[in-house]
Amino acid sequence: MIKDLVGMGVLRSERVVRAMSKVPRELFLPPELRKYAYLDTPLPIGFGQTISAPHMVALMTELLEVQVGNKVLEVGTGSGYQAAILAELVGDEGHVYTVEIVKELVEFSRENLMRAGYLGRVTVIHGDGSLGYEAASPYDRIIVTAAAPDIPNPLVSQLRPGGRMVIPVGDAYLQHLTVVRKDVDSSVEVEVGTPCVFVPLVGRYGWRE
Ligand code: SAM
Repeated sequence: MIKDLVGMGVLRSERVVRAMSKVPRELFLPPELRKYAYLDTPLPIGFGQTISAPHMVALMTELLEVQVGNKVLEVGTGSGYQAAILAELVGDEGHVYTVEIVKELVEFSRENLMRAGYLGRVTVIHGDGSLGYEAASPYDRIIVTAAAPDIPNPLVSQLRPGGRMVIPVGDAYLQHLTVVRKDVDSSVEVEVGTPCVFVPLVGRYGWRE
């Protein structure tokens, strides 16, 4: 599957190829769906939520440009798969904070991350990630894996100057992967990219409280 993503030109960064090759996607799926782990498609993880398709994980991870030692915030833990890939990229010197609003998925992702050996580098928080996670801010990188109506202000505030955020922004049916760059003088640049379809971000800065 990884070879296919490289062949299609979706995966270009050597570091992301290595990280995605190391994390076993089947460990982040309910047992009955593990046989589909290496199909390039989103899969249900319960509670109306999905684990994103590998090509989308590849695309977002490349756009995020994670460096060793980075402190990363993910909004929308889901299965914990994306968080595990981020943990591979930040290494022992970095850390991943990931916020999930569905309590049962907090437990599901923690179990998956523990089984896969990533819980040391990843902290899973139960809460409304549209507000970010102030306690560990500022972040070098922020990734949102649910569809937002707009770029939430708290996330921009919690981004370190020089930092970068990747977030799908749009309506309920179609979004665009959007890259937000915060300059060292704290000015913000927004670049709208590839079309995509995500489950909605809910909460204070999402589609509904
Ligand atoms: N990154 C996940 C993975 O690797 O499995 C996939 C994420 S799934 C496409 C989107 C997730 O965002 C769902 O688990 C959903 O419950 C969560 N979500 C939606 N709104 C949220 C919010 N305001 N705060 C935190 N999580 C939220």
